[in-house]
Amino acid sequence: MLHQVHGHSSGSGAQGGESLREDLREFLSGEAPLHQLDDLTKVNPVTPETVLRCLQARYAADTFYTNAGCTLVALNPFKAVPQLYSPALMREYHAAPQPRKLKPHIFTVGEQTYRNVKSLIEPVNQSIIVSGESGAGKTWTSRCLMKFYAVVAASPTSWESHRIAERIEQRILNSNPVMEAFGNACTLRNNNSSRFGKFIQLQLNRAQQMTGAAVQTYLLEKTRVACQASSERNFHIFYQICKGAGTDERLQWHLPEGAAFSWLPNPDRTLEEDCFEVTREAMLHLGIDTPTQNNIFQVLAGLLHLGNIRFADSEDEAQPCQLMGDAKCSIRTSASLLQLPEDPLLETLRIRTIRAGRQQVFRKPCSRAECDIRRDCVAKLVYARLFDWLVSVINSSICADPDSWTTFIGLLDVYGFESFPNNSLEQLCINYANEKLQQHFVTHYLRAQQEEYAVEGLEWSFVNYQDNQPCLDLLEGSPISICSLINEECRLNRPSSAAQLQTRIESALAGSPCLGHNKLSREPSFIVVHYAGPVQYHTAGLVEKNKDPVPPELTRLLQQSQDPLLKVLFPADPEEKAQEEPSGQSRAPVLTVVSKFKVLSQLEACGLVETIHISAAGFPVRIPHWNFVERYELLRRLRARTSPGPHSPLPAEGRSEWSPCTEAATLQPLLQDILHTLPALTQAAAAP
Ligand code: ATP
Ligand code: MG
Repeated sequence: MLHQVHGHSSGSGAQGGESLREDLREFLSGEAPLHQLDDLTKVNPVTPETVLRCLQARYAADTFYTNAGCTLVALNPFKAVPQLYSPALMREYHAAPQPRKLKPHIFTVGEQTYRNVKSLIEPVNQSIIVSGESGAGKTWTSRCLMKFYAVVAASPTSWESHRIAERIEQRILNSNPVMEAFGNACTLRNNNSSRFGKFIQLQLNRAQQMTGAAVQTYLLEKTRVACQASSERNFHIFYQICKGAGTDERLQWHLPEGAAFSWLPNPDRTLEEDCFEVTREAMLHLGIDTPTQNNIFQVLAGLLHLGNIRFADSEDEAQPCQLMGDAKCSIRTSASLLQLPEDPLLETLRIRTIRAGRQQVFRKPCSRAECDIRRDCVAKLVYARLFDWLVSVINSSICADPDSWTTFIGLLDVYGFESFPNNSLEQLCINYANEKLQQHFVTHYLRAQQEEYAVEGLEWSFVNYQDNQPCLDLLEGSPISICSLINEECRLNRPSSAAQLQTRIESALAGSPCLGHNKLSREPSFIVVHYAGPVQYHTAGLVEKNKDPVPPELTRLLQQSQDPLLKVLFPADPEEKAQEEPSGQSRAPVLTVVSKFKVLSQLEACGLVETIHISAAGFPVRIPHWNFVERYELLRRLRARTSPGPHSPLPAEGRSEWSPCTEAATLQPLLQDILHTLPALTQAAAAP
């Protein structure tokens, strides 16, 4: 499993320069063994196979980080390597005059980013994008970076909260176990898979100390609360409560030892993430006191009991569905834990209210399938609001006063590209997000760098890369795209079959080079050729999922709750929006066959080979003009002593303007010149 880490300036500007002398020395020292190549740009030739061999050699040598030009490739060690993440090592990278001269490490990226914030004339916000497939180690890396900044950017004074005096860095770190308990789950690919995207902004003051942070989350997979693919699990927090609750709490939350819940599959598997105490402790540090915590867990227990309600088809369509087995007991327990009136809860789950005009209200019994959908909808609604509320509480606990910070370092950790045998709206959204990220990378690195060379008139043979703009046009372009067509179906609110949607997409977007069709597919579907590979999406249920309808009577029911937390989550608001956010994600089973081909497909998914080509052929070092002159003036003089003939001139003098791209143009001929005459230069340097 590999993933890439990219550093990005949020404004304009380029990275600081590095010593060319070291590069020259390496260049002259000949080829290193494969596992010693700490930058993939040194692999020769650059092909997917050679890059893979190099990464394999490094993995075998327990070397998990490798540079790839401007990005860092991280291999998941799948074992504990504490020495690689010690605070002492963090300080070493922080103190190094040139961190890139140390072994490639996530701390190099962390430190370089930290320096980039301040090293420029105007401080520039920076962001680090961690990308890769599920299980590649993105969240681990983000956590590592947060720990790194907690050490190197620690503020000297403690930060007082209204309840607990706690260092802000510690609070920020405490947000991880809480968000992971509520937002991560065990999937076939990863025991601790993030089921939401996260952007955390680490806020720095003028002295570059971390004064706070702000978290933004994206697209929580809320359907997991009520629906888990076989062999997968619900969110960790449910297992934590069921395993970690004390005797009194079990009584209070109706969670007897060994109780079976249909929304709690695979309860016997114990993971290291099942630690209730760690979550509680972290919540406490974030200012969520014990009564509030208990309130949260009580509501979650209420959802578990809700999930045990089973309906049976009614023989008479005019009558509501029957309850099956212990459902009556589950309704009662759930209603009591959610502090909802029992009869209205049952009625709302089984009877749909249809309003005609202002006055007329019809009541129609729901089918068994509709009852199930309504039950699941209540759980998804509560869980999604609870998660958002938690994020807002975390933010209020860690966010700094706007006046106390000037710059930030952003960390982006979203879930990676997915392709399953059965892909639906969930995968469409995830892959769309990844497509956007890829475009950001293409625009900011692959395209921009080559365009810059062209503007500078540098000798450069254009490296072809996969521009994913046509795919984005297909997904989101104007006026017609897959998203606009699906949205339109939702807006028109007309009955449309899966086959109709497929036909509409195929006819309206026939001209797109990224749209494909699987003639052998029995189900209505379409294929999108993503940058990381083609994915077949089934159209059945796509429109309904996109609508994610929340019957208004369900929201109204939850507004009746006497529970203090639910009162906050569902305030009585006449303008309460009936429509919720777009659907969360449901996961189809993943084939877990690990093969060489899959590793290769990861390289392709990262666009890694193109990155290496451009980095290898391009100019990795960009030095401000004045800095360049200061550093290499000596070489020019030496060159003049050894060979008085004509040679490449130093850059024009008198340019005080800082212009990173022009430096590349001046470096190119001078470097060639220097390399050519290096032996003579060395002798000249040795001469008294
Ligand atoms: P997802 O997209 O599913 O959220 P991810 O890319 O965020 O996946 P992580 O949860 O970060 O993946 O990593 C998966 C597991 O791999 C971790 O739980 C951890 O056990 C292991 N792991 C990842 N990186 C490292 C590392 N550097 N050292 C040790 N173990 C690691
Ligand atoms: Mg993750």
